Formats: sequence, structure tokens, C-alpha cells
Amino acid sequence: MKILFNKEFFLHNVDCSFEGAYRIKDFADLEDSWYSGEEYLSLVHEQAYIDSIKEACMKNVKLAEINLNKDSWQAAMLSVGLTILASEQNDFAVARPPGHHAESNRAEGFCLFNNIAIATQRLVNQGKRVMVFDFDAHHGNGTQNIFYDTDKVLYTSIHQVYTYPMTGFADEKGVGAGENYTINIPLVPGSGNKEFMSAFEKILVAGMAFNPDVVAVSAGFDGYKKDQMLSLSYTLNLFFDIGFKLRRTFPNVFATLEGGYHKYIRECVDHFVEGVNKGGKPPSIKWNEDMAIG
Ligand SMILES: [Zn+2]
Repeated sequence: MKILFNKEFFLHNVDCSFEGAYRIKDFADLEDSWYSGEEYLSLVHEQAYIDSIKEACMKNVKLAEINLNKDSWQAAMLSVGLTILASEQNDFAVARPPGHHAESNRAEGFCLFNNIAIATQRLVNQGKRVMVFDFDAHHGNGTQNIFYDTDKVLYTSIHQVYTYPMTGFADEKGVGAGENYTINIPLVPGSGNKEFMSAFEKILVAGMAFNPDVVAVSAGFDGYKKDQMLSLSYTLNLFFDIGFKLRRTFPNVFATLEGGYHKYIRECVDHFVEGVNKGGKPPSIKWNEDMAIG
């Protein structure tokens, strides 16, 4: 797994004290990757909505909690595009704007287009079974709703309870063919690595039963103990462990950046990526004499 990035992401919603350019400043040393997601937006979004966002960007409108301009449109197309590229190469797209709150016809939170849902739907259209694992500390309501009635996608999320967007309760399990293909495990404020890992084990077991071709990760780092918005206390080692266990359990894992409102996103991403890369190596087996018997 490697990181995909583009410096165009610095130009969107620059000065926002939450979802602002400061979040990704430590990625400036990376080469720019280019891929526009524009032709894929309609996989999950309504055309009238797509047109309205494009127009809002060209007219410098403030929408949801985002100051839009033409650079926002470019960033949004790259955010979708690099997430799709990541899905092809098992990489990590460090992209803004994030996407998991975006509904098919509505911008929400700091999200315009649902990057992970678009990349997931594209894989589903290729006949693949996809498990989405969302460990952002907010519930990915947009992603959940887009796949709520299908059994082709298993949506799973661990997040802080009773905070924005006030969804993601354990009894939200999907409808129709999608019943039991949504798994939410909310954590109370103050929860840390131990509570997360106990929830994560349950999700890994459900994931193995689903047997996905690809695991699509909504990687948000607002559960990190230094985050300024939420009240969880995950450490960097937890992000390593998540990556390690996902890759050890499933053959294909890619990720895209969601939230995380602090200056330590690079460290968080690096730990996750290192975990994935180490998890991909076969466990070392120590030879000893006893193994020769039989
Ligand atoms: Zn979040």
C-alpha cells in the first residue's frame, strides 16, 4: 500500500479551522497523482445534485459547512478519482474533501461526493463483493444509506455514539435484501483502543463470513486522542493494528481519508499503511526439531 496525494487538495476550503488545508500539510513531499472521478459521480449521485454542486463551486457558494470555489470542484474530482485509483491498486488516497456523510442527493458535514461509495459501486458493477469498514469516529450515514438495501456490500462502522450525525445505532442493520448487511458498533465517549479492538474483532468475524473480494476503508482519524472535535482516545498503535489485521485477514484492502481534525494526520496514516504492509507478509514460522516429527 502506498499513499496517493495531490497538492491541489491544499486549495479547497483552505482556512476552515476544522476541515481545512492544515490537516494534510505534512503530505507536501509526495508526488502528485492525477485521476479525475467526474465520469463516475453518477454511480451513486443524482445528476441534478451533481450539476448543482458544480454550479455552486463556480459561483463561490457556501454549502453545508464548506466555502466552495472552482478549486473545490477540482479537489472533489481528484478526491473521487484518487479513491478509485486506490481501489485499483490497494492504495491509500489522502484526499479532501472527505465523503462518507454525502448522500446521493445532498452534501453533508464537510462532504460533497461520497468517495468510498463511488469506488465501491464501481467494484460492485464489476461483479465484486465489497466490505466497507468505516473507522472514522463519526458514523458514515451517507455510505450506509447508499448501500442500505443491498446484499452486495457489507457496511460496517465503529464510531462515537450521540454525536453528529446522530445515526449509526446498533439496530440499524439494513432493509430488504440488505437486512443484516449493515453493522454498526457505537462506542461511548472516552472509549479507547481496548473498546475499539473488541468491536473490531466482531466486524472481522462478520467480514470473514461475508468473504469480500475487496475491503474499502473509510479511514478517519478523529478517534485519535489528540483530535480537537471528538472524545475517543485511540493511539497511533491502534491504527497500525487496524491495518495489520485487515490485511492479514483479507486479500485486497484500499483506503480513503475521511475526518481527523488535528495536525497529526500524516503520523496516523503512516501507522495504518505500515500495518497493512506488514500484515501482507506471511507470518514467519520458526523451524524447530519437533516440526520434523510426522
Ligand atoms: Zn469524522
